[in-house]
Amino acid sequence: MPPASPARPDSRPDTALVRRARKIDRTLGDTYPDAKCELNFDDPFQLLVVTVLSAQTTDKRVNKVRPVLFGAYPTPAAMAAAEREKLEEIIGPLGFFRAKTESLLKLSAALVERYDGQVPGRLDDLVTLPGVGRKTANVVLGNAFDVPGITVDTHFGRLVRRFGWTDETDPVKVEFAIGDLFPKRDWTMLSHHVIWHGRRICHARKPACGACPVARWCPAYGEGPTDPAEAAKLVRTEGRA
Ligand code: SF4
Repeated sequence: MPPASPARPDSRPDTALVRRARKIDRTLGDTYPDAKCELNFDDPFQLLVVTVLSAQTTDKRVNKVRPVLFGAYPTPAAMAAAEREKLEEIIGPLGFFRAKTESLLKLSAALVERYDGQVPGRLDDLVTLPGVGRKTANVVLGNAFDVPGITVDTHFGRLVRRFGWTDETDPVKVEFAIGDLFPKRDWTMLSHHVIWHGRRICHARKPACGACPVARWCPAYGEGPTDPAEAAKLVRTEGRA
């Protein structure tokens, strides 16, 4: 069983950093007023499953598979009893279908055996489920239970380091460092704002710095093209989700 949540270090970030971070988040919030989880779901079980399935693929592909998947297996009990070959066939388009099928079978069985077929609403319980790490747990908490959570995915980690909010690379340390800069109630929307910005403008390779609404506060300005016309070509109007 994984350890309970690691202890949060007791540190106080400097005020200038907090102010700058919150300014960036407010601006991203104004830029992306519709920011939300880009995975579709109807209940916590669906969100848990689609988040597990979204590894190594796009949210769009997962959204396409979702109706068939939950049409066939609407509950943890139904999924735990699924025929492996049939489940593999449904999630085949997502890649890594054997490993993902195995994860879903184990996850559903654990929900049935240990949580009476319900998704638990606590981080310490969620991370004990097979295939569920802190990232997935925070997505589920923030979006299905309204419990604030910071989702440190690849976009989030890259952007907060570019913003100079932290130097940490370990996802748990990143989560704690950024959690110290923002009130808890803002954590879920902060995650959406940063991830949307990473998917649309601040790409891993060639960020569109010349078209970036937070450029004036970003120490990494210039990492991508600063010419407005060139940068505009790099902007995606929707996430690569
Ligand atoms: S200025 Fe460039 S590096 Fe900084 S957030 Fe904007 S796109 Fe990313």
